[in-house]
Amino acid sequence: MTAESCDVLIIGGGVIGLAIALELRRRRPTARIVLIDKEPACGAHASGRNSGVLHAGFYYSADSLKARFCRDGNAALTAYCLERKLAINRCGKLVVATSADELPALRELHRRGMANGVTVTLIDADEARRIEPHVRTVDQALWSPTTSSVDPRAVMAALAVDAADAGISVRTGVAYLRRDGDDVVTSAGRLRPGLLVNAAGLYADRIAHDYGLAKHLRILPFKGLYLYSDAAPGALRTHIYPVPDLRFPFLGVHWTVTVDGHGKIGPTAMPAFWREQYGGLAGFRLGELIQVLSTEAGLLLHAGFDFRGLAWEEMKKYRLAYLVQQAQRLLDGVDPAQCTHWGQPGIRAQLLDTQTRTLVTDFLIERDARSLHVLNAVSPAFTCALPFASWVCDQVEG
Ligand SMILES: Cc1cc2nc3c(=O)[nH]c(=O)nc-3n(C[C@H](O)[C@H](O)[C@H](O)COP(=O)(O)OP(=O)(O)OC[C@H]3O[C@@H](n4cnc5c(N)ncnc54)[C@H](O)[C@@H]3O)c2cc1C
Repeated sequence: MTAESCDVLIIGGGVIGLAIALELRRRRPTARIVLIDKEPACGAHASGRNSGVLHAGFYYSADSLKARFCRDGNAALTAYCLERKLAINRCGKLVVATSADELPALRELHRRGMANGVTVTLIDADEARRIEPHVRTVDQALWSPTTSSVDPRAVMAALAVDAADAGISVRTGVAYLRRDGDDVVTSAGRLRPGLLVNAAGLYADRIAHDYGLAKHLRILPFKGLYLYSDAAPGALRTHIYPVPDLRFPFLGVHWTVTVDGHGKIGPTAMPAFWREQYGGLAGFRLGELIQVLSTEAGLLLHAGFDFRGLAWEEMKKYRLAYLVQQAQRLLDGVDPAQCTHWGQPGIRAQLLDTQTRTLVTDFLIERDARSLHVLNAVSPAFTCALPFASWVCDQVEG
């Protein structure tokens, strides 16, 4: 069977794949760009199932790619939403201390924000209560006015329309199956790309391995559950996050205000047993279960980070009452009877370094002459997508 040739083949119609496709089109107006996604529509995984928070950029140390792209990504996606008339809730965010022990880490976040050029202010508890009357904090809180919320599915739908309008051949329902020399075998035939860009999220490691890259890196899926509050829209005025445990790349149980003003608790960061384990046996693959279980068993015995503590803490959050209890540490007057409705979960494509047995914290790309692989596009990759895509295209051109 002859292969269809194209200049660039992008695998994955999440926010990263679409943002790279659009940026490549801007730079190469006549290139033949094909984007494939195995699902019937773009944004079916992390990009359409996340919290929809445009992060400000104060969590990340200044030398990281996350710090480099978050502030500008927030501004770029805000501008995009305004231009495309997509809803945005500019509600800001408070990071609160649940005990005096957390104050040094709160101040560290403030320092990081300043170093990253992000607007953040340390305020006292009274000022915090003027922003959100029910907030609980010890002594101080961090106020981030530029954190906001969007509807991730609406953003994804708009990007997919833009890609098609820009002449990018967006082919949904088409899966990458394997590499065969210079060809890529898909569920809809063979393609021969000049350059392959792998932005396959939860399966990005597998594809990189086919190209002989990132052999020591493996995706370990972590599941994020959300619990919605039935309180009226507007009852919660701003996002409320705890001081995170900076040893882990997760932000802890928090309150998010959705784009339409509802409050939700989460997401959790529970180890999942297969990559698309959204609920029941959905997406079940025996091979993945065996691989994940053996990796997790190995981490329980010996890990370069406290996997045992993380797993134990996260598994407790399957109990609704425990999750609500965690959220009550941040906010007064939470009525557990109003928090009973689970939302659509998302799964993080978190990269594990199997040599050091540690979680990779920053974004990572690996490449060779004809392929580029985006690995560990974890939070806040949604926020960072536009400037990150521009940087990826610089790497391609370089
Ligand atoms: C619970 C949760 C909450 C989050 N909250 C936030 C937040 O508030 N703010 C923020 O900035 N970030 C957040 N993130 C992170 C953000 O959602 C992700 O970093 C981002 O969406 C990653 O985009 P992606 O394009 O790399 O991956 P994905 O969106 O997963 O896209 C990958 C695509 O590749 C496709 N694919 C996979 N395998 C194949 C194959 N073999 N053939 C063809 N196609 C394939 C998939 O179908 C998928 O559409 C959150 C993530 C999670 C899971």
